[in-house]
Amino acid sequence: MIEQELFATGIDYLAYVGVFVFGAVIGSFLNVCIYRLPLEQSIVFPASHCPQCGAALRWYHNIPVVSFLFLKGSCSFCATRISWRYPAVEILNALFYTGVFYISGYSLTSLVLFGFISALIVITFIDIDHRIIPDVISLPGIFLGFGASFILPWVSWQDSLLGILLGGGSLFAVAYIYAFLTGKEGMGGGDIKLLAMIGGFLGYKAVLPIIFLSSLMGTAVGIPLMFIKKADGGLAIPFGPFLACASLVVFLCLKAKQCCSYARINLASQDKDMLNDYTAQSFSS
Ligand SMILES: [Zn+2]
Repeated sequence: MIEQELFATGIDYLAYVGVFVFGAVIGSFLNVCIYRLPLEQSIVFPASHCPQCGAALRWYHNIPVVSFLFLKGSCSFCATRISWRYPAVEILNALFYTGVFYISGYSLTSLVLFGFISALIVITFIDIDHRIIPDVISLPGIFLGFGASFILPWVSWQDSLLGILLGGGSLFAVAYIYAFLTGKEGMGGGDIKLLAMIGGFLGYKAVLPIIFLSSLMGTAVGIPLMFIKKADGGLAIPFGPFLACASLVVFLCLKAKQCCSYARINLASQDKDMLNDYTAQSFSS
């Protein structure tokens, strides 16, 4: 019995390590996407090379995180510094995958969440670098979100469809009003498509909390930044990262709320069972 349990936990640990490594390998691919998608380069060909000297990387330069440490953060051909962001993205993606696996285990839901979170990571860093959210991710993302609603446990397809309309529509309204009042374009079309995609995956109930939270975070980060950089009043900071971050927080809150209500239902039914037992006992005696 005990041996069996030990064996089971051994398998569990192994599975978590496997998921972490898988997340890091996908994270390495995300780095390629972050670098190449905005430049409209192929994400498949050519194989990874140093952006500075153009030397093709050998297989042992491509091991997530490990290669970075092994090379002490610089290109082995031209010694140009490699950004710490490469291993950071790999570790971030690996941590998220491990968290998803902890919540959803071996399931299609886990696969969908892997894709959703990785898309958010790529969008976040591209938006930070270039102030754009590539349509090649957000537009297919809207359709994938709707498609995924047929297997995801937290949204029905109606919730998902409403989420897409509300997500796209509400930001479109905000952008329209902002442009109308200031005569400047503040919210990009990319943000609108991104929130439509997020609404598709998480459902309409998540949309308003996400707008609220991301605006709050944007303000909290934007105002100090404005003082530091003495930027003008226009929306100079990318909004995509805040939308991505807020949608993960809101998702976790909705998930936690769901768990609590399940627990309440379970407790309530347990109470009823106990009550039934008790009454049955008192009747029989
Ligand atoms: Zn180089």
